[in-house]
Amino acid sequence: MRADRLMTMSHPVDSDVSAVRTYIEQHRAAFLDDLAEWLRIPSVSAQPEHGPDVCRSADWLAAKLRETGFPTAEVWETPGAPAVFAEWPADDPAAPTVLVYGHHDVQPAAREDGWDSDPFEPVVRDNRLYARGAADDKGQVFFHTLGVRAHLATTGRSAPAVNLKLLVEGEEESGSPHFRALVEERAHLLTADTVIVSDTGMWAEDTPTVCTGMRGLAECEIRLHGPDQDIHSGSFGGAVPNPATAAARLVAALHDEHARVAVPGFYDGIVELTDRERELFAELPFDEEQWLRTAKSHATHGESGHTTLERVWARPTAEVNGIGGGYQGPGSKTIVPSSAMVKLSFRLVAGQDPGHIEKAVRAWAAEQAPAGIRQEITFAAATRPCLTPLDHPALQSVVRAMGRAFGKPVRFTREGGSGPAADLQEVLGAPVLFLGISVPSDGWHAPNEKVELDLLLKGVETAAYLWGDLAEHWSHAP
Ligand SMILES: [Zn+2]
Repeated sequence: MRADRLMTMSHPVDSDVSAVRTYIEQHRAAFLDDLAEWLRIPSVSAQPEHGPDVCRSADWLAAKLRETGFPTAEVWETPGAPAVFAEWPADDPAAPTVLVYGHHDVQPAAREDGWDSDPFEPVVRDNRLYARGAADDKGQVFFHTLGVRAHLATTGRSAPAVNLKLLVEGEEESGSPHFRALVEERAHLLTADTVIVSDTGMWAEDTPTVCTGMRGLAECEIRLHGPDQDIHSGSFGGAVPNPATAAARLVAALHDEHARVAVPGFYDGIVELTDRERELFAELPFDEEQWLRTAKSHATHGESGHTTLERVWARPTAEVNGIGGGYQGPGSKTIVPSSAMVKLSFRLVAGQDPGHIEKAVRAWAAEQAPAGIRQEITFAAATRPCLTPLDHPALQSVVRAMGRAFGKPVRFTREGGSGPAADLQEVLGAPVLFLGISVPSDGWHAPNEKVELDLLLKGVETAAYLWGDLAEHWSHAP
């Protein structure tokens, strides 16, 4: 780090903030016009007829990133939809390397689903930009373009303060089927000291937050086979094992009376919440009644000793996603069914290894099976959990940058769901941070998806401060 740079940046003064805000204000109209142009491309990865549009979206983004100044911006083909990769090296080769992740494909949308305007004809109403992909995820990818321009213009640099890379995939809304392979194949180009995911949101408009982790996911289907065919319950029932009963017992044995997962070894090695994290969760303005209404549930329920937010963000779970077997038609059919099935999923937290969970579940299920019931268990591909500690220097940079942009204290959340970001963490060995400005009312995957323009520009502003802060405060040298 050169001394002159250190001096100007370690004492940020209000003039830096106002310079960034002035720059953004001057370029706001062109930025929004460009974003609208991108949003007009219906890059729906799930619908084969939109395949050419997804390709067009990738080409459009690569061209726009070159125009932004990225010396490298290219389309990476996959067996499915293409991704976009861009890279802008710092002047100082020792600067940290950051990889920004997002996606350019969108969920399906049609006017007749309940949209007030064409989902692929962006409109601004009440300072909100309505279009499919406005928040998930084109808007949140795109704020990085003006962000890096503002960073350069206001610091007089010709290259970002960090080695900046972008990976924008084209199949996220279709479950990222080729993403892991792409990252493994191109890992040498994607190496980074940290990954910043801009595909999440914050707590509320007036409560900026940084998400620090996502849960992982393991899923299995258990088929229980009894008699070789459905048999008469009068002639044989009561004298042979019933696979539907075995399925019900298996499900009943999944949790103990404290709603803890009863699979031996399930909690081995998990990273427990610290007291500080529990305090910070408790400080969030959480309205449980409102949350229950959103959940469409009539009561809360979960592992004893934990709050609702802890249960959905920081505790591992086992869920019965489906159970079936035997006769399900009208009237009755007096049989002992031949088979039954259970579908289970497990949300995992940091410290849990999906391979270990699979072994533990298989061993536990085998224990429960009565003689004469054969089990067949298949596990789907798992997603790992990811978690970045609160004191990680890169996380602190995100918090400072966001705090400057919003002028408010930044709080912490986690995400209960699971995503491909964990693949980046695992393959690249880099901690994952989440920088998102979307709010729950943005309507991801729903009709009338929108992004709040003020928040979108706060995203630009955060990105404008972030790279300098990271380069200044984070020595990534081992
Ligand atoms: Zn998304």
